[in-house]
Amino acid sequence: MKLESILLPGIDPKRPIVIAGPCSAESEEQVLETARGLAAKGVKLFRAGIWKPRTKPGGFEGVGLPGLQWLKKVKEETGMYVSTEVATKAHVEAALEAGIDLLWIGARTTVNPFAVQEIADALKGIDIPVLIKNPVNPDLELWIGAIERIYGAGIRRIGVIHRGFSSYDKKMYRNLPLWHIPIELRRRMPQLPIFCDPSHIGGKRELIAPLCQQAMDLSFDGLIVESHCNPDCALSDASQQITPDVLDYVLNLLVIRNETQTTENLSQLRNQIDSIDEQLLELLAKRMRVSREIGIYKKEHNMPILQSPRYSEILEKRSSMGQSMELSTEFVKEILKEIHEESVRQQMIIMNQQG
Ligand code: PEP
Ligand code: MN
Repeated sequence: MKLESILLPGIDPKRPIVIAGPCSAESEEQVLETARGLAAKGVKLFRAGIWKPRTKPGGFEGVGLPGLQWLKKVKEETGMYVSTEVATKAHVEAALEAGIDLLWIGARTTVNPFAVQEIADALKGIDIPVLIKNPVNPDLELWIGAIERIYGAGIRRIGVIHRGFSSYDKKMYRNLPLWHIPIELRRRMPQLPIFCDPSHIGGKRELIAPLCQQAMDLSFDGLIVESHCNPDCALSDASQQITPDVLDYVLNLLVIRNETQTTENLSQLRNQIDSIDEQLLELLAKRMRVSREIGIYKKEHNMPILQSPRYSEILEKRSSMGQSMELSTEFVKEILKEIHEESVRQQMIIMNQQG
């Protein structure tokens, strides 16, 4: 994939690239007041949802076409670039007609290849930056599929937005961050800029600052934050929007670590990690050899592979041992589970062998 920079003229490439604006455009006054507040704080990219995909009917479903005219006014008055979410061919056409500068595809759209293809077809021959949110479910391939569809339409200025993943069991987050998924996406497509959407991950104002910091610590390129001139009165996502002043405060507190600096000490530490990883692999190989020997013994003595008291005992002992070594119980259990599953697989192969 050969991508081009999503940076529009005049946008500072320094991390984080910030996109901010209300979840939804609600009225001309609300849009303009928020935009003025953000522009005064130096924000250059404005967001506002015009068509809102709501979980249930009857909620505020966006203002539709008139909202595009308000975004046009934002552009004229503040000079900010404007962006909105598109989910259908008609949305794309209306947004392009109104001179919207950047489009994003929402999480509920990314899950649907038909919808993404429809958007891709509507974008054929157009040169506009497009940001693709992760699908609501934690499926990296589906996310990559959407990126490929948009790329296939000839769009070269592509970025992605990590907005967390839906889960049945909602605790701290509205959408679980599952950072390893965008990290794996970065490994597979290193040139793809990644934005973090702390509003939709956290679902709460107080989580915006720590999530922005985590995204910066993971070398994300940008942030897309919901900001409203009067968050408490917002018609959608009220609990996860902050005022332009609070956004400015949050951004100023961010610690941006230097990416390019690879010091001598760091490379020495990395060498240590390389050699520890080698030792870990050798130990794992050795453990599997012993497991296979146990498999042979069990087969010769007509014993079953699974002996759950033994597995429970291993889990118990190792996790308390891990605790004394500053390893979290969860981490130790997860690793032992994987190792145990592989041992069982190896022993099953032995049991199934002839003779
Ligand atoms: C939004 O950005 O307002 C939105 C609807 O987000 P998501 O697609 O991440 O739910
Ligand atoms: Mn929202």
